[in-house]
Amino acid sequence: MSKILLVEPEKSRRYHTQYPPLGLLKLAAYHKKRKDKVRFVRGFDNDGFYPNKIYITSLFTYAYEPVHQTIRYYLEKYKKAKITVGGIYATLCGDHLKEAFGDRIRIHKGLCEEAEDILPDYSLVPEWKASIVFSSRGCIRNCPFCSVRVLEPEFRPKKSIRHLVYPGHKKVILWDNNILASYYWEDIFQELEESNLEIDFNQGIDARLINLKVISRLKRLKIPLIRLAYDTQGIREPLKRAIDLLKEAGFNGRQILVYCLYNNPFEKDTPETFLNRLQDLIDWGVISYPMRYEPLEPREKNTYVSPCWREEQLEMVAKARRVIGYGGAFPPYEGLKKKFLSAKSFEEAFFLKPISQCL
Ligand code: SF4
Repeated sequence: MSKILLVEPEKSRRYHTQYPPLGLLKLAAYHKKRKDKVRFVRGFDNDGFYPNKIYITSLFTYAYEPVHQTIRYYLEKYKKAKITVGGIYATLCGDHLKEAFGDRIRIHKGLCEEAEDILPDYSLVPEWKASIVFSSRGCIRNCPFCSVRVLEPEFRPKKSIRHLVYPGHKKVILWDNNILASYYWEDIFQELEESNLEIDFNQGIDARLINLKVISRLKRLKIPLIRLAYDTQGIREPLKRAIDLLKEAGFNGRQILVYCLYNNPFEKDTPETFLNRLQDLIDWGVISYPMRYEPLEPREKNTYVSPCWREEQLEMVAKARRVIGYGGAFPPYEGLKKKFLSAKSFEEAFFLKPISQCL
């Protein structure tokens, strides 16, 4: 019997996620099945549990510093334990991690196949009430700005996910990158419908694959919010068509949220083309959610500026999201509609009057 310590770096402004560490919860279930003794901790543990193996997870590449701190702590504290570091940063930036820690840690890239199809041990996070599920891994698209092609290079759909829903949970959150590309999407929708739980296709659904059949299946789910993406100008027409179909089927524009990538160095994305996409969305009566592009290599969050953008323009978007947005999004409110649709330039759209002029 091994003693396994599972570590999530301490949450902070620099290491922030609202979700539990799914990979660690799966590892917990896997090791418990093997009768290993398992302990899960957040941050820096100090309670006399001496593990043989330690698994440390990681988040996005810009959140690497807290991961390094955690590794340093456990290397120092448990000198004999074998430490494995996995997760997104470890997968995308193995060389960076190796440079910092050499052979003192093992780097795990990608998924942990043995634990991939196991029900995560949600008993370790009793405050969390939703099952997070992948009914497929990878994506059929190969967008150059997206990390999925590195994190999950092969598209692999599952036929069933029923066994991944935890008894007592009220909601299922799907983290599929492109569920509609799955050969089994109808089987999965059927299971979701039968679960009678609230459903969130959290990573968005691919507007290009939405048709009347998909809409009729979506209508049968308890789905408060439909998430789509408008990352490049190239998907304008299929996206518009998908939104029209959703609205015709009775979905309200305020139930449709569209992610809108900006600061993207790959797609000739400029402040003006970003504004055009926002104007489309507000004109179509749906919520837009700007997403600032972050590169895959490790660097401080919000410091990358793509060649077609200037730092002050990125700051204008961030400020507008804080001041006139709602939770970082731009809902199709009349005031916002007027401001964005009448603007002749990016600067005009994102200019905010100083407070003294508003009084
Ligand atoms: S469609 Fe979305 S998930 Fe798929 S590669 Fe493009 S950005 Fe990534």
